Amino acid sequence: MISHAHPDHIGGLVDKNGALVYPNARHHIAHEEFDFWMRAELADFKKSGLSEMPEFLEMLLPPIKHILDRIETKTSYFSHGTPLYGRFSFQRAQVHTLGMTLTTIHSGSGNLVFMADLVTLGRFAVSTPRVEVLRRYGY
Ligand SMILES: [Zn+2]
Repeated sequence: MISHAHPDHIGGLVDKNGALVYPNARHHIAHEEFDFWMRAELADFKKSGLSEMPEFLEMLLPPIKHILDRIETKTSYFSHGTPLYGRFSFQRAQVHTLGMTLTTIHSGSGNLVFMADLVTLGRFAVSTPRVEVLRRYGY
């Protein structure tokens, strides 16, 4: 499950030669996230703080497109609100990226929400947060 396509979340899917690190894996990502990054250009970041760092964006975009291009044949697109494999469900969290998604993993009587990079700028980036913190692990 790919929460979003920032390089620190997808960079490990291909090696330095562009080969798939997990050739038997099926990747799941929101379609709008995949499409955004495949066609992204500097003009798409006008409202972002990154608009003031065009050199950074020019460095960032090609590797993202390269990685997504390499995994495309091994990628499926989940839809928000539709469970997958009876164990996963998805919620939009479109503040960090256009197609960023929270994944809830359902197991027995418990659920675990995977929310990579959800907390940005010191606030939660979901419209209806319902968060239960696990103290067992000291978080
Ligand atoms: Zn990120």
